[in-house]
Amino acid sequence: NRRQSLSLEEYVEGVKANNRAVLARAITLVESNAARHMTLAQELLTSIMPDTGESIRIGITGVPGAGKSTFIESFGMMLCEKGHRVAVLAVDPSSSLSHGSILGDKTRMEQLSRHRGAFVRPSPAGGALGGVARKTRETMLLCEAAGYDIIIVETVGVGQSEVSVRSMVDCYLVLMLTGAGDDLQGMKKGMMEMVDMMLINKADGTNIHAANQAKIELRRIVHMLPRMTNGWETKVQTVSSLTGNGMKECWETVEQFYTHLVKTKQFDERRKKQAANWFHSLIEEQLLSSFYESGIIKRELPQLKQSVLDGKVSATQAALALLKKYQGNN
Ligand code: GDP
Repeated sequence: NRRQSLSLEEYVEGVKANNRAVLARAITLVESNAARHMTLAQELLTSIMPDTGESIRIGITGVPGAGKSTFIESFGMMLCEKGHRVAVLAVDPSSSLSHGSILGDKTRMEQLSRHRGAFVRPSPAGGALGGVARKTRETMLLCEAAGYDIIIVETVGVGQSEVSVRSMVDCYLVLMLTGAGDDLQGMKKGMMEMVDMMLINKADGTNIHAANQAKIELRRIVHMLPRMTNGWETKVQTVSSLTGNGMKECWETVEQFYTHLVKTKQFDERRKKQAANWFHSLIEEQLLSSFYESGIIKRELPQLKQSVLDGKVSATQAALALLKKYQGNN
């Protein structure tokens, strides 16, 4: 890698001018785990901070195969045609745990990736979810500073990543499937209470009837659930990412939702919550890495862990002993 390194000013100017090459490099910089990159990355984020916060932050989740990438491509293209600038980011901690990522590789959303109004970035490979989430949040800020007014954060509908994405977006929607053996109860209740909007995708061809049935059923269910957003009953709609049917209505609902958030003063509240959440997860992430990276813990942990496995020491005792050593060392 013989690229000349950029100065802080070059990064800031490039990002603000939406120079895509510089934006991409700025994202790589904030994604880097190397200590020597962190200072510059944080200076960059501080410099662009006044230019952030002006976007609509939308989270999208759904099980693999629900049609997330097809939906985002179609939705994103529609928004670009309307003159919006759309950035698509992903949170997929699976990519660093297993060999393949659940969300798939960079070849997804080819059409949208090529659109000059869009910027598509795959999930950072960051190890633990905390790391991936932090990088995505910081990337979101860079994209806002570059003038993207709609940020879509995609995640897989499995595990903790959906909770993490909820805490970084204003509006959260889940893409669902219906069809043979349609099992609405299969969707975790916790998930249902986390979203502002449910979209039954693939409402096309022979699936239209089943999709409409599922919509009625889901509306009945969400009516009885606690609401994620005060005064907003989770909207249930059908859509086809293939034909584009219902896509316009999806955007209308997002706009209505925004108006509602702003009107009821929940928008600022939500943004404050996002910031607080971010702040705490940064502390947690830093503490964890500083703990596991410290010399004394690296030395002492394996043996203590073995004692726990051998049943010689309780897990609690061992953990407390390690923490004490860590504190004594700091
Ligand atoms: P993801 O894993 O959630 O990102 O799902 P994909 O976007 O990769 O879609 C999974 C499969 O469903 C692909 O074969 C898509 O072509 C198909 N698909 C996605 N959306 C629709 C839709 O609205 N209608 C139909 N019939 N197929 C769809």
